[in-house]
Amino acid sequence: LKSRLIPLVLAATASLLSTVGQAQPIPGVRSDKEAMRTHMMNARAIAGWDLYAHYVHRCILDQTYRQTISRGFQTRNTIEPVKVMDNLYWLGAADVSAWALDTGAGIVLFDTMDRPDDVTTILIPQLRKVGLDPADIKYVVITHGHADHYGGADYIRQTYNARLLASPEDWAFMASQSSPYVPKRDMDIVDGQVWTVGNVTMTFYLTPGHTPGTVSTVFKTTDNGVPHTVGFFGGMGTPSSAADKNTLIQSAKRFEGIVKAAGADVQIANHMTQDQAIPKLEEIRYRHPTDPNPYVIGNEAFLRYLQVQEECTRVALAQQGQK
Ligand SMILES: [Zn+2]
Repeated sequence: LKSRLIPLVLAATASLLSTVGQAQPIPGVRSDKEAMRTHMMNARAIAGWDLYAHYVHRCILDQTYRQTISRGFQTRNTIEPVKVMDNLYWLGAADVSAWALDTGAGIVLFDTMDRPDDVTTILIPQLRKVGLDPADIKYVVITHGHADHYGGADYIRQTYNARLLASPEDWAFMASQSSPYVPKRDMDIVDGQVWTVGNVTMTFYLTPGHTPGTVSTVFKTTDNGVPHTVGFFGGMGTPSSAADKNTLIQSAKRFEGIVKAAGADVQIANHMTQDQAIPKLEEIRYRHPTDPNPYVIGNEAFLRYLQVQEECTRVALAQQGQK
């Protein structure tokens, strides 16, 4: 299973390389090439083969090829929705994901894609396709204040009377943006908050760096009745300033401790490049009930996943001549 991810990444990389071209040098920047090498090799070793695709994306595609290959890979292409766990459904497209959590007392939706049109043409049909009723959306958790996560939120509030949740830091960050789809401030999420809806209890953590108040979440779930724990780091893309990069590294380190303590073994993300959703969803579509669930990566791999993120953020610091 793990080795099957590698040819997919290599094939995607090779086909994009041939059409998009080489990395762009950053004008006026003196990269620390030795530090880049050290942290790349660290990440490579930590990743091993099971997280190789994660290493490729975080350390190479998201750094050297962010505006070229990485952007080309994450474009608006259709991906069919999939029931991933007994109460958890993947929604979205190739550029951005959303998740529906069926609590037994309504749906908690994590993220809303770019704009109201995405809700009507993608998310609502996808919810119906997996057997959920969009009218059951009770809450929307905005994982972080970037437009591709909040764009449909206000439409969902108006249409389904749903409540919106985000951190105070990211409510303020969203309010500072000029997008017509910035949602009105509603409910606040605070660090360490324990929140129960129906039969699901979520714990929220503020893990800043990607944005000032990125929200990460941990909750228990089941897969064919077998208990598991989900960890959802709310935003990973490398920020531009050195201070924000260092904050992101600290947040990833902190989440490592949280994931370890919670025994989280299911890693999900809000972009398909951050949880390898494309191969995993495809495998689930053809899965026999006794096959392993590809989203269950195990607690030890989850910790390494976050360590790879830390090392690749250090690659970015070195590449951009930041200390
Ligand atoms: Zn973002």
